[in-house]
Amino acid sequence: MNFEEKNWARELGKGIISVEQLSGKKIITESEKNKIAAVKDLFDIRVPQIFVENSHLEIKEIAQQFVPSGSELTIYPEELEDPIGDETWTPVVGVTHRYRDRVLLKLTYMCASYCRFCFRRYKVSDSAFNLTDAEYLTAIDYIERNKDIWEVILTGGDPLTLTDQKLKRILQDLNKISHVKVIRFHTRIPTVLPARINTEFIQVLQAIQKQIIFVVHINTHFEFTKEAQQALNLLRQSGYIILMQSVLLKNINDSTEKLSLLFKTAIEHGVKPYYLHYLDLAKGVEHFRVPLNHALKLFKSLRGNISGICIPEFILDIPGGKGKIVLNDANAVNLGNNCWEFLSPLDGSKIIVQYPEKEI
Ligand SMILES: *Cc1c(COP(=O)(O)O)cnc(C)c1O
Ligand code: SF4
Repeated sequence: MNFEEKNWARELGKGIISVEQLSGKKIITESEKNKIAAVKDLFDIRVPQIFVENSHLEIKEIAQQFVPSGSELTIYPEELEDPIGDETWTPVVGVTHRYRDRVLLKLTYMCASYCRFCFRRYKVSDSAFNLTDAEYLTAIDYIERNKDIWEVILTGGDPLTLTDQKLKRILQDLNKISHVKVIRFHTRIPTVLPARINTEFIQVLQAIQKQIIFVVHINTHFEFTKEAQQALNLLRQSGYIILMQSVLLKNINDSTEKLSLLFKTAIEHGVKPYYLHYLDLAKGVEHFRVPLNHALKLFKSLRGNISGICIPEFILDIPGGKGKIVLNDANAVNLGNNCWEFLSPLDGSKIIVQYPEKEI
């Protein structure tokens, strides 16, 4: 069956969402059940069906991204609920306005996969945070009244978990705002729920006159399944630029070889690596952290090893909402003892950040 004929809502529903399903399919052991149940209380489970049916969970680089681990219960004092300070830059519910010319519009906190290292895990998967109709209208009004806003970034959660009908309304509302020139989707859907990228969705997009851009979250070359390739192709052939953002994750993509393969595979499928994010200080994600001194060396090893067109920028979001910086030896000063100094691009202040003690 062609992927386009699959009903995406049904595919979404087939994902693994419970501890019972995980143990029934022998993805976790009986003895892990209690711990994983406690993890689920903190952050929902959703292992996408595409990785279940393709036996992809046997690949540890895939399984570790989506299958919960008891390590999530280990929380360090340095870790933060809202690691990149979204809440300090929230003028109205659902909008994060940190940089003058662009805003995040967070409509839903639902995703087609719950990535265990998610930096917004304090809200993601909790439907109580989804925008109400009144909040949505206030958010649109805010964007309309702020003439500085050139770009609206639809994120969340994953905006593509919304129905076409809802997306149509949102896109049409944004389409009417003349100072908004660009609409950007931040999504993981093309790889975790490729059936969502169907011709009906493309029709919704094609009624919009703004420039629409996709930034797709992908962390390993394994995620470029045949279905994902078809979804990405459909987007590209319909005229949309596709960029990629990835997170540097321990044991998943933390070697020159693995990163090279990820970035080259992306380019081979018409996807331009945009950002490689250094892991934020979210709660319960320390087991995914590559120490920053090692991460800087690793990133440096790419230049010269692979084509320049494959190389993204290495980015760190300074905790507390102090903004994104490009990571390099000049911008990240190692003070020792797991302390680093960064320069905020927003106000020029020097920010000292301590990471949890780790053995290297
Ligand atoms: C990351 C982020 C953006 C987008 O940043 P770009 O560098 O343009 O990709 C916009 N607003 C907020 C609040 C962000 O955290
Ligand atoms: S898709 Fe994005 S927002 Fe959703 S859980 Fe994964 S990282 Fe978080």
